[in-house]
Amino acid sequence: MNELHIEQYGTVIICPYNKAHVIPAARIQRHLFKCRRQYPKANIDICCFNRAHHVPKEDLLEHQKNCPDRALIEVYQYTMDDGTSNLELPEEPNPQHEFAVQKYKEQEENWDDMDAPRYDPEEYCRNNPVVRKTMHMTKSEKRKFREEERIRIAALNKALETYGSTSQGSYN
Ligand SMILES: [Zn+2]
Ligand SMILES: [Zn+2]
Repeated sequence: MNELHIEQYGTVIICPYNKAHVIPAARIQRHLFKCRRQYPKANIDICCFNRAHHVPKEDLLEHQKNCPDRALIEVYQYTMDDGTSNLELPEEPNPQHEFAVQKYKEQEENWDDMDAPRYDPEEYCRNNPVVRKTMHMTKSEKRKFREEERIRIAALNKALETYGSTSQGSYN
């Protein structure tokens, strides 16, 4: 998700449906679902770990591999499968997580058709003491990231102008 912190606006997110939309983080989920209806042909899918993550279809698998909410789901799923865990979890399962786990399981079947190695939660948890993974970016991913960053800042500047902001001092 394109997230940005601006002093006078707080955390804002660039809408994936229209880069001219710069939305305060607190309102992004509502906005995204509104925009989704408005741009039915946008090639954008919703992350199965967090419904506030609207990601271009071609980036969805990559996003879901690195989604910060994924670790949480995997801990939850692992605990359900195994029945024992010393990890602290909320007593009431979060319905959104249940939804995500279910959707995740459905997607797992699809993933099996691809040439990615089969996902084994137990193996995964053994090798990854469930903490958020750091993103290992290749050179070209880094370049892509920087480019997107530039586009994002440009869009932001444009948006700020459009909204008639008076203070542009630090963003030129
Ligand atoms: Zn939008
Ligand atoms: Zn996500």
